[in-house]
Formats: sequence, C-alpha cells, structure tokens
Amino acid sequence: MKTIKFILFLFISANCFGQSISELINKVDGSGLEVMLKEFSGEISTVVNGSTVTILNRQSHQNDISKDYLVQKLESFGNLSVTSDAYSTNGTNVIATQTGSKNPNEVLVICGHYDTVTNYCADDNATGTVAILEVACVLSQYCFDNTIQYILFDEEEIGLLGSKHYVTNFSSSQNLIGAINLDMMGYDKDQADDAPIHVRDK
Ligand SMILES: [Zn+2]
Repeated sequence: MKTIKFILFLFISANCFGQSISELINKVDGSGLEVMLKEFSGEISTVVNGSTVTILNRQSHQNDISKDYLVQKLESFGNLSVTSDAYSTNGTNVIATQTGSKNPNEVLVICGHYDTVTNYCADDNATGTVAILEVACVLSQYCFDNTIQYILFDEEEIGLLGSKHYVTNFSSSQNLIGAINLDMMGYDKDQADDAPIHVRDK
C-alpha cells in the first residue's frame, strides 16, 4: 500500500491538475486490492470471459487466462485504450494507454511482469501486477498532460522478452520520459516494513 501511494504521488506531482494528492491517494481501495491479489494468484476463483476460473499458473506458455483477466480489468476502468500485443507464440504484453491531453507523445510507463516461474506466485509478481491495476483504476479517472501507459509484460522470467520487445518497437515519434517497474512488492527480506526503490540513470 505504501508503494502504491508513493507511485500516485510521483505521477500526480508531475502531471496532474485540478485535484489534490490526498484526494487521489484516498481513492486507493485496499480491500479491492487484496481481492485482486487473491484472484490473480489462484487463492480464490474469479470470473473471466463469463466463466468461473482459478488462475493457478501464469507461466508464459499457459497464461492466457491471466492475460484475459488483465484485459478485462483494465477495460472495466472505462477510460483506457487496452491492447494485447502478441509478439510471439507464447508471449503477450498487455498495454493500457491513457493519452495525455497536452503532450500525447510524451510517455510515462508504469509496468511489471505478470508471468511466473511456477504455480501461485503471489509475491513474484501478482503483487506488482495488481498494484498497477489499482493505480490505473485511480488515475484513469483523471486528466493528465502526458500519456501514461500501464504495461503488464510477459516472459520476464525467461529473459525479459516482453519488455525487450516493447522497448525495441517503441515508436520513434514518441518520447519515453520515465518508467516505474514494480516487482515483488510483498517481499520484505529484513522485515523492516519498507519498500526498496532502485533507480538508474538512462
Ligand atoms: Zn519478478
């Protein structure tokens, strides 16, 4: 939850107008977030494409249901253009775009991977995935100067294939001005109740 609020603060302070930071932070739905985490890591069943399913496994060769879950969720927010980029036989990135009102070609990315190495995998990386869904749910209700893309990458666990495809094919007419990647948000190795943030230059 702390990390989600921090992300909202970053985006809002850089781009938003007409609403307060606290207003948006207060829209984060902790109980809804927990439900999505349980659904996406197979702890409870959910409904995808009209059928009741359990998302037990999200390994890249068998994660079609989880991909459809993401598309369904992002489309339900109502203000995003959602696409599935099937870049290979097993690889599909899910991309939701919120076009900026003033600078549509300036793109901020918030991303994470949704594939796994085995069953369940709530930490790696259902936590980051559902955090992105929650951030998209909140921010999609508002207007921003720059474009925001919420991206769930596939095949991270077998060599960052989804994100490499995205970067390789990034449009030359657009400018990638920043990216926040969320991975293993539930992992607290030292029990310090904090959220490590790693940064890199360009
Ligand atoms: Zn991971």
